[in-house]
Amino acid sequence: MTAVTRVGPLPVGGGPAVSLTDHELRVLELVAHGHTHEDIARQLFTTPKGITPTVNRAVKKLGAANAPHAVLLACRAGLLDGRPRRHGDHAGFAAHQYRGEEPCEACWAGERAYRAERRAARKSAKVRAA
Ligand SMILES: [Zn+2]
Repeated sequence: MTAVTRVGPLPVGGGPAVSLTDHELRVLELVAHGHTHEDIARQLFTTPKGITPTVNRAVKKLGAANAPHAVLLACRAGLLDGRPRRHGDHAGFAAHQYRGEEPCEACWAGERAYRAERRAARKSAKVRAA
């Protein structure tokens, strides 16, 4: 399943609405932070060969000339705020919700683990109180 980040009409070159997937956004964010395609591939558990088409797709969707231009347009459009995003835990899950997005797979998994942990903590507190 692909978590899609839906963004409404944006002032990106006055073009149509841009909808980058969570993955495209994550890759673009890592590009923005100066990571090489090899670095990005390692972080996202894929191969560098898989990163290039993702970057190209984001470039095309944003109507950018190249990757740095795509980063600039994404920042201006508020898609990238320049801060690294947390994924895979309760905070990442909450951040998705705050942005009105469907949380990504990693964040759902982290949230489930967090909820299970909380449930266990409540249960053991009850046992201690009894
Ligand atoms: Zn996430």
